[in-house]
Amino acid sequence: MSTPLVSVADARRPLHAGVDVGGTTIKIGIVDDLGRTLGATKIPTADETGVPDAVRRIAAALRSLADERRIDSGDVVSVGLGTPGTMDIPAGLILEPPNLPGWRHFPIRDALAEACERPVTYANDAGAAAYGEFWVGAGREHRSICLFTLGTGVGGGVIVDDVSIDGAHSHGAEFGHVVIDTTAEARRCSCGKPGHLEAYASATALVSIVRERLAAGEPSSLAGIAADSLTALDVAKGAEAGDALALRLIDDLAVRLGLGVATVTHVIDPEAVILGGAMNFGGAAHPLGQRFLARVTAEFRRLTFPVQAARTALLFAALGGDAGYIGAAGLARLNHRNQAS
Ligand SMILES: [Zn+2]
Repeated sequence: MSTPLVSVADARRPLHAGVDVGGTTIKIGIVDDLGRTLGATKIPTADETGVPDAVRRIAAALRSLADERRIDSGDVVSVGLGTPGTMDIPAGLILEPPNLPGWRHFPIRDALAEACERPVTYANDAGAAAYGEFWVGAGREHRSICLFTLGTGVGGGVIVDDVSIDGAHSHGAEFGHVVIDTTAEARRCSCGKPGHLEAYASATALVSIVRERLAAGEPSSLAGIAADSLTALDVAKGAEAGDALALRLIDDLAVRLGLGVATVTHVIDPEAVILGGAMNFGGAAHPLGQRFLARVTAEFRRLTFPVQAARTALLFAALGGDAGYIGAAGLARLNHRNQAS
């Protein structure tokens, strides 16, 4: 875990737990009232053993974490839970997440509340990550943010004045499915529809596009890697080493993403747009990450109104893989405070 820990003695109470369910790993953390992590752990998602088993394991891992860090479990007043969609947030139901075929139509929020004996706040995983960045991450100076998560897919989250915009059907902020290509040749998204951003700007899309160019005979150092084992990280390493094809395709991805960012900005008009997820090309500290962000920003500015081009901040996320559990805990904290007042 990358986030520095706050000691139990220094923590501001009450405390909140955050749970971030991913395709392979469930991250669990306990944070204080200022969003600082007291302790974090992870357990396998083990999709095949089903949700009831996962709920039991999450509750057990939370108890162990509190014991290990010598946290009085009475100080932990609420739990936040983020899962991949599809979902029904008001009803607390996980519906049909594509990456979790064993998790179908289950009242996960109430089951976890019973297992943890705490109220549970339920959120989309990208919405939780957005709240984490808004609360204590790259967006902490801003009152409204849009977060794009770039990984296997493209996720999104919108936070405006402490509110996560989930939409009427828990499908708000689905940035990955914004249409950016209406031509007959548009690439097909993982959801089955044509021309969606995710089909151009996810790690999966980058790898597919590189494979197609290699199969078409374009010269590249990546041709030395077996096509079925090629990853987005390989493409990034190739680009760092000066591979022209890798650089060009990452630039193309940045331009497509810039179009998606401009579209979302014209809907929400946030103070800041934040790029998160595992595919950040090294982030702000790395020349390739700087080049990527500059390309996204240039395309964004080319397409947006002048005031937005001049004033909207485009930033890399700051919390890395911890954003989801920190943000889930933050949303639980909000509910706790709203109920207390
Ligand atoms: Zn789609």
